[in-house]
Amino acid sequence: ATTVLWFRNDLRFHDHPALAEAVEYAETHDTDLLLMFHLHPYFTDNTDISNDYFFQTAASFQKDAESENVKIHMLSGEVEDAFSTLLERAGEINAVFCTPEVTSFARKRDEKAASFLTDHSVPFYSVPGNYIHEPGTVEKDNGDPYKVYTPFSRKWMKEAKPELRHVDMDVLKKRCTRKKALDQESEEAFDRVVNSCTRSWERLGEKAALERLEYTMKKIVPGYQDTRDLPSRAGTTRISPYLRTGSLSVRKVYEAAASQMETTSGSGAETFIKELAWRDFYAAILHYFPEAEKDEFQEQYRNLPWSENNEHFSAWKEGRTGFPIVDAGMRQLNQIGWMHNRLRMITASFLTKDLQIDWQKGEAYFGHKLIDYTPSSNIGGWQWAASVGTDAVPYFRVFSPVRQGERFDPEGTFIRQFLPELKHVPDKYIQEPHKMPESVQKEAGCIIGSDYPEPVVDHKEERKRAIAMFEEAKDQ
Ligand code: FAD
Repeated sequence: ATTVLWFRNDLRFHDHPALAEAVEYAETHDTDLLLMFHLHPYFTDNTDISNDYFFQTAASFQKDAESENVKIHMLSGEVEDAFSTLLERAGEINAVFCTPEVTSFARKRDEKAASFLTDHSVPFYSVPGNYIHEPGTVEKDNGDPYKVYTPFSRKWMKEAKPELRHVDMDVLKKRCTRKKALDQESEEAFDRVVNSCTRSWERLGEKAALERLEYTMKKIVPGYQDTRDLPSRAGTTRISPYLRTGSLSVRKVYEAAASQMETTSGSGAETFIKELAWRDFYAAILHYFPEAEKDEFQEQYRNLPWSENNEHFSAWKEGRTGFPIVDAGMRQLNQIGWMHNRLRMITASFLTKDLQIDWQKGEAYFGHKLIDYTPSSNIGGWQWAASVGTDAVPYFRVFSPVRQGERFDPEGTFIRQFLPELKHVPDKYIQEPHKMPESVQKEAGCIIGSDYPEPVVDHKEERKRAIAMFEEAKDQ
């Protein structure tokens, strides 16, 4: 018989509870172990940068495993088709293990898998491992879910943390005996997806992720509280793409940060741990309130009269709104598939407040472009910025893009990096280049209206309009 481990966004061998259980199960029941990855049509039909990064990580994971003489088998098609092929080709299956996720897509897929496997008398075990505290496990004393981050995080901090689950690689290698592809067609389909990626990344996968963790613990986390809000400084860890693919275990990240917190006097590690708790918080929100994946958490804001101005939306997407800090953020996203957190807040606020465009459009755009795209955090971040989420920024506190630029990129170092047309604009005008007199524009080699746009809207006016939109909805 064969025990199966189904990899999804948990592409690693370190601290992997589901894999550790599968290995132990195979050893106890004296079965083969088969590692599989399922190429779901949902992802192959929706090619974008976010998926490119994920599939290249999956390919590098498969290659790394092969160098250890371990095969990760590809299956494809709808879930039922993939498992039919598995049952047909692998012989008797005595259990399938996987790591659960919170999105509606993942839940539906797993329900289908569970029902198909149950019909074939195969037990399906879902073993948590992608969060520090699994969604649904940090609750108020009366059992209610938290809707506000601060009390959630206090409780989260106090709860005993799960032990890391070591995978016995010797047993794993010994049990993974099947080296020949189970389904050649799926292997080829997977290769086609990987070869059709339009972008490629270096430092993908588990080894790079563990190295990044080591580096950030030494060089970034100690000063994190001072540098995390400045986009021009490499002041955040940039581990998010590794957490998205599961190349890095977040529980391992927590362990490293907690040990630093105990042994050093600075507040870097503690501030950093609070950010990790946000990740768990937003996953817990989707767990308890799955409707928040599509609808505004605050019901009173479910029918806001969002603008349909497509020119504004394109200007935002392409980074040509005429507000440098917004445009630099969007160009960073478009160029490298990642954006600094402060800029995610600024650009999301600009779209929803200054342009009054539906947060869902921005959320979807980020979803296509972010290599760290994580639905729970993305939806949480967008609903926060749009003032429609749980524990969101109040609607009357509208970010001024100019003021944000002055605070978080005062000399325009970051702006100039992503907007080379503003390279020679004097510091005095870097947040509002349209205010440059003509002679200064000529000297800076940046003519407003041709090299760089005029602001697409008047912030002061739009701020009033956005507040009025929310107030009207609230009064109804
Ligand atoms: P660090 O500052 O080094 O933080 C370490 C880790 O903590 C991050 O990798 C992340 O896992 C977690 N974290 C930090 N801040 C947050 C936060 N506010 N919410 C949830 N988790 C957090 N994060 C994603 O991983 N995927 C997304 O799709 C995503 N979309 C976002 C959209 C918007 C509009 C906003 C405002 C935030 C979004 N975030 C998202 C959260 C945050 O911006 C990123 O996690 C962070 O920028 C990743 O960079 P880092 O790894 O250097 O972060």
